[in-house]
Amino acid sequence: MKRVLITGGAGFLGSHLCDRFIKEGYHVIAMDNLITGDLKNIEHLFKLPNFEFYHHDVSKFIHVPGELDYILHFASPASPIDYLKIPIQTLKVGSLGIHNCLGLARVKGARVLIASTSEVYGDPTVHPQPEEYWGNVNPVGPRGVYDEAKRFQEAMTMAYHTFHGLETRIVRIFNTYGPRMRLNDGRVLPAFIGQALRGEDLTMFGDGSQTRAFCYVDDLVEGIYRLLLSDYAQPVNIGNPDEITIKEFGEEIIKLTGTEQKLISLPLPTDDPKQRKPDITKAKAILGWEPKVSRSEGLKITYEYFKSLSKDELFKMAN
Ligand code: NAD
Ligand code: UDP
Repeated sequence: MKRVLITGGAGFLGSHLCDRFIKEGYHVIAMDNLITGDLKNIEHLFKLPNFEFYHHDVSKFIHVPGELDYILHFASPASPIDYLKIPIQTLKVGSLGIHNCLGLARVKGARVLIASTSEVYGDPTVHPQPEEYWGNVNPVGPRGVYDEAKRFQEAMTMAYHTFHGLETRIVRIFNTYGPRMRLNDGRVLPAFIGQALRGEDLTMFGDGSQTRAFCYVDDLVEGIYRLLLSDYAQPVNIGNPDEITIKEFGEEIIKLTGTEQKLISLPLPTDDPKQRKPDITKAKAILGWEPKVSRSEGLKITYEYFKSLSKDELFKMAN
């Protein structure tokens, strides 16, 4: 049985990855310090003999007994309000955390896949963004703690690949959504759906003309799985190129939820990227991957998930 370590395994994406690797017959070790994650996301796996959970901060030395075939480094605060609240931990997990993972991988002879991000492109001046674009990041702006941590993480991973011959993979993830996102993580989808469910107006930042392209989580996980098993060590964008303005997105959520609330405009956060859309030519050519779930299908599933939360959770999580 192949053994995989997933850091950030109790988070949104990490927990979906745990599910996928369990389904594929792996022994899965999830490691998480629960700073933004939740054991609820993986509690259904606890009874399985091929699942283990380690409560540990990956920015500190990592010890995992036994063999490891793969390490997926997904630990990191991921939403702007999270990484603005804990900027130093964010920088540490993208630097010390990946260094620990890469060191562990050398000892175990494991292949490492890192969760990078479309944020390495910053506020892009090239649209859509291909992997060859180097980005437009403000290192000392509020988002710099996340963007630069991820850029460092890519550089460190590539250095281990080049200088130590380690097997590495880099996925640049574009905005992904689905069940198990936290209602209060500040990202636009849970923010809008939570507000609609609580009967509050939807808080659009700026005039809503900025764009994003949203990928359903199952599509992302499929792309990551294919990349891990491929022999391609350069970065690969995984995302859904179906681009939409935030204003249009808000209107879609209003229609989906049937809320009588309206969109209100709040100030645009500093350095908020004006447009974003993945160029997925590489993923198509190298992995034979493209997204299958339309936004309308994915949003319905995600809305059902948020509706299934108790009233207590809905209001408690809003604090
Ligand atoms: P999340 O906050 O739900 O998950 C992150 C997990 O990492 C949490 O469970 C958290 O407790 C854990 N963690 C954070 N610091 C840790 C540390 N020092 N030690 C151990 N565990 C730690 O966020 P997510 O959306 O699931 O994102 C997962 C990864 O994917 C992140 O690396 C993020 O940067 C990347 N990513 C996500 C998206 C997206 O749209 N969701 C886009 C681009 C990149
Ligand atoms: N946004 C918004 N209202 C909110 C939360 C976010 O209008 O309540 C906007 C935000 O300014 C950005 C877009 O939605 O332009 C996506 O934000 P998110 O935090 O989800 O992701 P990121 O900016 O990291 O792509």
